[in-house]
Amino acid sequence: MIPYGRQSINQEDIDAVINVLQSDLLTQGPVITQFEKAFSDYVQSRFSIAVTNATSALHLACLSLGVGKADMVWTSPISFVASSNCALYCGADVDFVDIDPDTFNISVNELRKKLVETKESQQPMPSLVIVVHMTGQPCDMRAIAELANEYDFKVVEDASHAVGAQYENAPTGNCQYSDICVFSFHPVKIITTGEGGILTTNQPEIFETLLTLRSHGITREPSKLVKSDAGAWYYEQQVLGYNYRMTDIQAALGLSQLNRLDEFIQERKKIASTYNEKLAGLPITLPVQHDSSKSSWHLYVIKVEKAKRLKVFNGLREKGIQVNVHYIPIYKQPYYQSMGFSENYCEQADAYYEQAISLPIYPALTQSEQQVVIEELIRLLAGS
Ligand SMILES: *Cc1c(COP(=O)(O)O)cnc(C)c1O
Repeated sequence: MIPYGRQSINQEDIDAVINVLQSDLLTQGPVITQFEKAFSDYVQSRFSIAVTNATSALHLACLSLGVGKADMVWTSPISFVASSNCALYCGADVDFVDIDPDTFNISVNELRKKLVETKESQQPMPSLVIVVHMTGQPCDMRAIAELANEYDFKVVEDASHAVGAQYENAPTGNCQYSDICVFSFHPVKIITTGEGGILTTNQPEIFETLLTLRSHGITREPSKLVKSDAGAWYYEQQVLGYNYRMTDIQAALGLSQLNRLDEFIQERKKIASTYNEKLAGLPITLPVQHDSSKSSWHLYVIKVEKAKRLKVFNGLREKGIQVNVHYIPIYKQPYYQSMGFSENYCEQADAYYEQAISLPIYPALTQSEQQVVIEELIRLLAGS
């Protein structure tokens, strides 16, 4: 069986985890801070906050930016449901902006158009736009930041796919064009901590808020207490927070995986260029890369003519090649339909969904395994 993606764990990763298991602190120990520091160094952000997963990271991102009942949040429909669920957790309304058919990222033109139309018709304007770096290719952040400035909304990057990606030769996560950037360390993503996620930001107030929200809304910091310090045991819960803490066991794995990140990206890039080369000329659409960005290649998505997609997909699956479809447009989910979204809410997202297939791509995919994928795909396209 060849999955579409999987983790790569070596002896160093295992040893790192065992070291923590044999230490005094399994959670809230020193490794979390080391991991956060190393991650910030890598992505060139001022702050990093490690949490239980990217879903809780997105929830905290919304909360720390003040998203609540009165707010409207816009995101891309071609993403995992967590990208928009996070706004619903906060009681906000959600809306979707159609995608760019080349990159599968939020379309900047559609975003601009929707902002103009929404303002003209005096409908609720978004206070936050969550952009998703689909497949690992960063969105056009410069243009998005310009719109954010003009129309006064915050920007969160859902970079769950984009650990190790670059935009304008700088690492995704540096938050140059956003308020907060969120990453996932689920085993299928670029580096893993089992379950895990991290937020990066350059803004000290957001960082402080995130720290408190990550741990029940509790503070022990003497300078922040609102009542008088009763003794060494004393703490105050000042806001409603959560337990979204990562363990040191996970952080140790993350730290070790981070050392291997550049190697992982190289491997993924190599697999992508082999696909690019060997699949060129077939009646399918290959992923488009923009000059401004360097993808982390979390996914390699091809587009197959609508009438043939299911047959090609099933044919690959029958051969043990676990291709997948990323993603069902979020507005098609029954939960979102019950909120009033129509079945065909975004034209380009719909068209994409009818053609997309994610081919296997992960560092441990061997050349011969990839060759099997390529040959089966060629066979199925010729026979269909
Ligand atoms: C995986 C993923 C998430 C959720 O990540 P978890 O760490 O599993 O919570 C959110 N958004 C996108 C785009 C993802 O791919």
